[in-house]
Amino acid sequence: KAVIAIVGRPNVGKSTIFNRIVGERVSIVEDVPGVTRDRIYSKGEWLTHEFNVIDTGGIDLGDEPFLAQIRHQAEIAIDEADVIIFMTNGREGVTAADEEVAKILYRSKKPVVLAVNKVDNPEMRSDIYDFYSLGFGEPFPISGTHGLGLGDMLDEAVKHFPDETGADYGEDFIKFSLIGRPNVGKSSLVNAMLGEERVIVSDIAGTTRDAIDTTLKYNGQEFVIIDTAGMRKKGKVYETTEKYSVLRALKAIDRSDVVLVVLDGEEGIIEQDKRIAGYAHEAGRAVVIVVNKWDAVEKDEKTMKEFETKIRDHFQFLDYAPIVFLSAKTKKRIHTLIPEIVKASNNHSMRVETGVLNDIIMDAVAMNPTPTSNGKRLKIFYTTQVAVKPPSFVVFVNEPELLHFSYERFLENRIRDAFGFEGTPIKIFARAR
Ligand code: GDP
Repeated sequence: KAVIAIVGRPNVGKSTIFNRIVGERVSIVEDVPGVTRDRIYSKGEWLTHEFNVIDTGGIDLGDEPFLAQIRHQAEIAIDEADVIIFMTNGREGVTAADEEVAKILYRSKKPVVLAVNKVDNPEMRSDIYDFYSLGFGEPFPISGTHGLGLGDMLDEAVKHFPDETGADYGEDFIKFSLIGRPNVGKSSLVNAMLGEERVIVSDIAGTTRDAIDTTLKYNGQEFVIIDTAGMRKKGKVYETTEKYSVLRALKAIDRSDVVLVVLDGEEGIIEQDKRIAGYAHEAGRAVVIVVNKWDAVEKDEKTMKEFETKIRDHFQFLDYAPIVFLSAKTKKRIHTLIPEIVKASNNHSMRVETGVLNDIIMDAVAMNPTPTSNGKRLKIFYTTQVAVKPPSFVVFVNEPELLHFSYERFLENRIRDAFGFEGTPIKIFARAR
């Protein structure tokens, strides 16, 4: 999917436009004072195009000076986007900060659409001609608050989308990515995998200008490591900011079947790991948890078990994910990783037989009667698998509200016990018959 980034100096209205494009208010202000949990990466749609949008203004770069912040946000847009929407403010005219952003964007080869926001009424349209001086051709007048002009602006943006068929791989490939905070050893792990004896690498990222993925073959199965280049390329100032690693993770997850959540065995689990792991789960991808740097851990026979308990405690939502302990440095147990990826991927796309599924559900109900609410009992008529990636089931019932979370969880566990599904989330929906 193509990626659009919105850049511009503060207060030109980037977040308003971002929210308009993604079609809902995604910026959530939590009750906790001082905590704004704003989304910076989200899906958007225009005509027949589906894409992702980045609000670079949401990437807070700490207490860097004003101009350095804007500059870094623009650099992120250049690195991450296929098309950049450069936002300015029609009420204030062209400012020095706009010119600063423009200078950075000139140097990139990425297409830029210039938007002039806060043009709330037609009379103001004559004021936008100054913006030609920024050197990005025709400025598009828009109004975030009134939702005006966005269609023309997006028409222009989608014209610059790369050939959408180009970036995709066939169904025969298992696509996986490695996510985790900086320095857990993602790129070391990729190198260790590629160095394995039975792995045949067909395309190493970085050998051609646009190659960001690596394709490889193992035991006749083909794989794509998503965004290999992103893991290897290092040293930019903004790469250690959390929002930026989240952005990268979201981008990679979006294109993957299986996500490896990489943890640092030496440093242990921190809050940031938990958030990053949460994104993989929410996206419905298969997940394998990798504990790297196991060589550097002082251990006895209980250490692994203890670490596993800690992981299960911290990542309760990932209870289906297998855990692999290894060392990218010494290569110990590296060979166990690819088989886990294959297993998780197979389970992620597994279809089960309806007859068997209904027998399982009937047995489950016989063992643990359905819940009642206000004197009414849940009745399950029929269950069927409606989708894969992840496996999704619809349970036809008398009243969907009666299927409480705990009973749904019970059914999920019965389905898991019967069919496996290790490594993949599964979804259950109740529908009234
Ligand atoms: P990334 O930012 O997640 O891609 O992490 P890197 O692959 O750059 O690794 C960060 C640091 O951890 C480097 O200094 C690596 O040498 C070190 N490292 C990576 N894997 C291991 C490992 O298995 N054991 C030990 N002891 N160090 C490792």
